[in-house]
Order: sequence, then structure tokens, then C-alpha cells
Amino acid sequence: MSMKAFVLNCPIDLCSLDEALNKANDAIRNNINFQIITINPEMIMNAQKNEHFFNILSNSDLNIADGVGVKIALKLKKIKQNQIRGVDFSRELIKLASENNYRIAFLGAKEEIIQKAKENFLKKYPNLNFVYTRNGYFDDENKIIEEIKSANPQILLVGLGSPKQEEIIVKLKSVLQGCTMVGVGGSFDVFSGIVKESPMIYRKLGLEWLYRTILQPERFKRIFPVLPIFLIKCIIESIQKKG
Ligand code: UDP
Repeated sequence: MSMKAFVLNCPIDLCSLDEALNKANDAIRNNINFQIITINPEMIMNAQKNEHFFNILSNSDLNIADGVGVKIALKLKKIKQNQIRGVDFSRELIKLASENNYRIAFLGAKEEIIQKAKENFLKKYPNLNFVYTRNGYFDDENKIIEEIKSANPQILLVGLGSPKQEEIIVKLKSVLQGCTMVGVGGSFDVFSGIVKESPMIYRKLGLEWLYRTILQPERFKRIFPVLPIFLIKCIIESIQKKG
């Protein structure tokens, strides 16, 4: 059991990238399903008003601190936790799949993006054992669930945006066996090379969200006012805990 901390009542697992990866690997070896959520402030704020999503966050097997906002929220509680970027974690999972010949599946993003992402990984790891690849634009969710069940992957990356990706993973958890599943948001767009990854300096300064907002100004509506309210709520929470 890893240590957990709570940010606005949502559990975060305190662990390093390697520890998270080892847990996923153990689950695959023991043939058990394992849901990983790469948690960010938007998700925590969504959980405040959406009880169903709060339950998903609370019942997942591992919640890793993806957003820099989560790292700051933990710091307010004097808890040190490095940010584990979803894209970095996903890359390591794929490396793990190639080293162990695990069956792998991708679900999400636009067709050209998902195919390019797959192609790029196959260039890097030609032995990757892809059993399923599907874009994220579909009407019949049950059909997709059946297809993935037949493909029987051991690692499944789902990039549909939140909460859609976490919701379908919960459904898949009840039909798959021995599968590690992670919601990867827009990571396929980055893996395809079509969307640029934020430069190292932005990552180091924790300003990745700013870089993405400059490239995609429509994201501004999504993160404001969510991000400032999240931080204010976290500050209030940390003051209340002290008092
Ligand atoms: N997407 C999808 N199906 C949908 C809606 C979105 O596959 O019905 C994909 C979209 O193409 C993108 C990802 O989901 O690749 C969402 O990315 P976003 O930037 O919203 O996620 P974030 O990284 O912010 O969590």
C-alpha cells in the first residue's frame, strides 16, 4: 500500500514514477485489473460537483499527481510529491510493454493521430504487441467495450478527455482481466508528433498549462476560473487544517 494524501477530499497516491510503474507491472503479472488516473486540478474540481466522478476518483487503484496544481496543493499541506506527467508515465508503460511483450491497446484521439502515434511507437519498439487501436470518436460504446474485451489487452491507454475516459475504464474494469488501464487525455496528440510537447523550460517551471493555452487559446475557457478557484479552495483547506 502506498501512502495517500487528500486534496479537497480526493485521494492522491504519493509515489514516484518508478513506484507507479512497478505497481502496474505487479498488477499485470498477477493478472488483475488496475485503473490509473493521472489526476489534475480540473478533475478534482469536477469531483466537487459530480458525485459519480468523485466515486470514480475514490475507487481507482492509483491516482498519480499529474498537474502541477496538484503538486502545489500538496505542498500547501507540507507534503512533497513530484509531478508525474501523464505523457511520461504512458511512455514508460509502453516501454514496459515492449520489454515484457505485453498486449497493448490504444483508444482515443482522431484517426490520423492514433495511427501516427502507433506508428511512432512501432518505430521505437518494433516488437510492440498491439492488439487493438481505435480512434476516440464513436457512438456505440458497448460495441467498443466488446471489441476491447475480445482483444484482451494487458495495457490499455484511453485518451478521450476527462471524465469520459475514466468512465469507460470503470466499465471495462468489470469485463477485462489482468489489464492496466490509464486515462491519458491529449497524450496521443503529443505522441503523434502533430501537437508539440511543451519545451523543457515550461515543464521545469511548472508552466506547461500556460504553453498549452498559448497554443490552444480555446483551453483558456476550460482552465479559467477553475484553476484559481482550485488554488483558493486548497489554501482555505490548508488554513482550516492548521486551525
Ligand atoms: N477525444 C476523443 N473523443 C472525444 C473527445 C475527445 O478521442 O469524443 C480526444 C481528443 O481528440 C484529444 C483528447 O481526447 O486527443 C482530449 O484531449 P484534452 O486536451 O481535452 O485532454 P487533457 O490532456 O487536457 O486531459
